[in-house]
Amino acid sequence: MPVIELNRRNFVLAAAGSAVLGSRLVQAAASPTPDRITPWAGEKIVDCHFHERASEEAMIAHLDGAGVSSALMLAFGDASTRYAQLRGKHPGRFIGWARGAGFSPPGGSSASDAAPSPFNMASLSTAGASAQAIDELRRLKARGWKGFAESGAVGDVDSPDMHRMFAMAAELDVPIMMHFQKAGLPGRPSQPGRGFSHIEPMLKKYPKAKLVGHASDFWGHIDARYSDGGGYLTDKVQPGGLIDRLLADYPNLYGDLGAPSCLIQMGRDPEFTRGFLQRHQHKLMFGSDCGCADGRGGMGTMAPSVPVPPGSDPQRPAGGVNAGNAAAMQMRMAAMGGLAGKCIARELLSITWNSVDRSTFRNIAWNNAVRVYRLEHR
Ligand SMILES: [Zn+2]
Ligand SMILES: [Zn+2]
Repeated sequence: MPVIELNRRNFVLAAAGSAVLGSRLVQAAASPTPDRITPWAGEKIVDCHFHERASEEAMIAHLDGAGVSSALMLAFGDASTRYAQLRGKHPGRFIGWARGAGFSPPGGSSASDAAPSPFNMASLSTAGASAQAIDELRRLKARGWKGFAESGAVGDVDSPDMHRMFAMAAELDVPIMMHFQKAGLPGRPSQPGRGFSHIEPMLKKYPKAKLVGHASDFWGHIDARYSDGGGYLTDKVQPGGLIDRLLADYPNLYGDLGAPSCLIQMGRDPEFTRGFLQRHQHKLMFGSDCGCADGRGGMGTMAPSVPVPPGSDPQRPAGGVNAGNAAAMQMRMAAMGGLAGKCIARELLSITWNSVDRSTFRNIAWNNAVRVYRLEHR
């Protein structure tokens, strides 16, 4: 899991923490299923928000602990070689890898803009560069790359970089999974994906680009009262939220059921959640975005790094999971009462399992991701 992701989470949880204490959310989000019981054991489940970890053992430990059969690995750099090795060694467990797009920093270009990476949207502003990138991505697609995931734009949803990514995703026929969060982060003034509430023209303009929404400004919009960058609402959901409408109206919009941002929203109003999961059962996909070590909420000894050769990827620093950040996330979760020591994968699977019938569960836990990302499950 990238450091940046943990930082985002820390911030979100810090922002949400005090408002959440004592609310119904805490009881609702707390797993009704003890951590040692896995009622979904034996089901085919793919975690489509599974950040690459330091070792294959660490990845298998989280999958096994949470009772998850398979993963779409959100990788650092070009993972095609690692992916082939993982597939050979753990048949059926790794069924695709993905990598997000990079964007211009606020206020213009940076040194990394010059790097000719097919993932660096800022470097692809000319037709020639775009065509070359498309060729390169086609090559990676043949080696298991499944889409632009996870992408976090530093800018607005209709920026030139975003248009480039949507056009490329449409041409390559791969999904974009995007982190939408307008609120800034402490010590990190750049803001990921701003302006989700203005996404509709992009969905209209690029009907062939499949967008999978994630993070606070996506999930917050289950409620009609939410606005981009707002704090989490934790009471009963007010129907008429933006994503409820967009998921119904746009065949190219999907939802990534992962991270505390989703867990908090799915945990606040069980009756709403049941209806929401049911009516969007062909549009929602289980993902975890979990930082725990063992798939049961334990921290273990968090691995210090991810195998990224230094300098191999201008979008990402070498190294990855940061033990200090992971511990800080757990402290925030502890501050949220019921979430202390919980595995996000387990919590979300538990809510889904207890809210819908088996066929709906299978759509959300397996069928939708396999179909939309074209995962290699055989
Ligand atoms: Zn994210
Ligand atoms: Zn976990």
